[in-house]
Amino acid sequence: MDEEKIIAEVQSCIDCMICLDVCDTFVVTQNEVLSPNGRLKIVDKIFNNQNITQEEIKSIYTCTLCGLCDLTCQQSIHIADAIHASKIKLVEMGLGPLENHNKIIKNIEEQDNSVNGKREERLNWMPEKYKESETFETGSSDTLLFLGCMSSFRVKESASASYELLKEGNFDFKIFEKEPCCGEYVYSAGKLDFAKKIFNENFELFKQHGIKNIITTCGGCFYAFNNLYPKYIQDYDIPVKHVIQVIHELKKNGKLKFRQSNDTVTYHDSCRTGRKIKNIDVYDEPRELLNLCATVNELKANRELTACCGAGSGIRGVDSSLSIKIGKKIFDELETQDIITSCPLCVFNYRYVNYKTQSQIKTKYITDYLLNALEES
Ligand code: SF4
Ligand code: SF4
Repeated sequence: MDEEKIIAEVQSCIDCMICLDVCDTFVVTQNEVLSPNGRLKIVDKIFNNQNITQEEIKSIYTCTLCGLCDLTCQQSIHIADAIHASKIKLVEMGLGPLENHNKIIKNIEEQDNSVNGKREERLNWMPEKYKESETFETGSSDTLLFLGCMSSFRVKESASASYELLKEGNFDFKIFEKEPCCGEYVYSAGKLDFAKKIFNENFELFKQHGIKNIITTCGGCFYAFNNLYPKYIQDYDIPVKHVIQVIHELKKNGKLKFRQSNDTVTYHDSCRTGRKIKNIDVYDEPRELLNLCATVNELKANRELTACCGAGSGIRGVDSSLSIKIGKKIFDELETQDIITSCPLCVFNYRYVNYKTQSQIKTKYITDYLLNALEES
């Protein structure tokens, strides 16, 4: 969106306040500065070069960019895009991103990951039995399983279980030995030039290794490859699937079988495997697969209307108490002890919320759950 369009959209707000109740950062704080309407007022100030306070900058950086407000806005304002555009503007003005974002971005520059991991530990997730046979970039497949920083370092079983299920289903793919960061974190923080540099460098790397298809485990990478790379790279032409779509196809073709159990679990849709993803819905596949193994409960807000887990867009580094309150709000609604999701960032945040609130909720990444229910062939 160009600046004039952003200002025109922002100024079309009629202060109906309908968007407030869908925004979790408002719901858990009752602070209008942390609402879509409140943030649009700050966006207006930023694009009109008015002075803004630290509290206002923090408000922009505590938006999870979940996009739920866009669905309710009476004036069809692209609220999340306007908030993201204001982050880019804040970076241009030297007022963004915030200190914690800069630390993470430095780690991306130095260690190629957004989670403070060490480059040499990136493959620690790999199951022992595959270590000797893995050929990485030299493999002949044109399909890349892109694990992402969160799966590789923080929720390693999401990487290992995804990899193992694909192997069990005789699916042809390869992985990179030295996988880069997808750049989504940098983009979300508003550092557009650096994000574009990462996108372009990765595209060159993909071309160099003959990659024609990408599979991701992480909602953030899925969003980056599906929405952002085609937006910023003119000739970008690599389709992406979420790993659960591929597992679903393998099941449909009889390559994988799962056994039923007495479990009752709740499935949580991540914003970045659903609402935020252009032209792809990943709503039915996880439910169909989980239904083969368990009774699946729904949250009140599900599918396109799902709530953010509380970790989107770097909010944890700005105000982790907000992440905890948003995650706890979802916990309070659960009727099961187990919650399953298709994004490792949601898994990571729910485990953090569980620890901080001394709850008894167990969170699993979906392929980790499915691997445990795999029938041996
Ligand atoms: S994108 Fe999500 S967190 Fe941000 S203002 Fe809208 S509803 Fe609130
Ligand atoms: S719903 Fe739209 S028009 Fe109404 S207050 Fe929110 S941003 Fe403004």
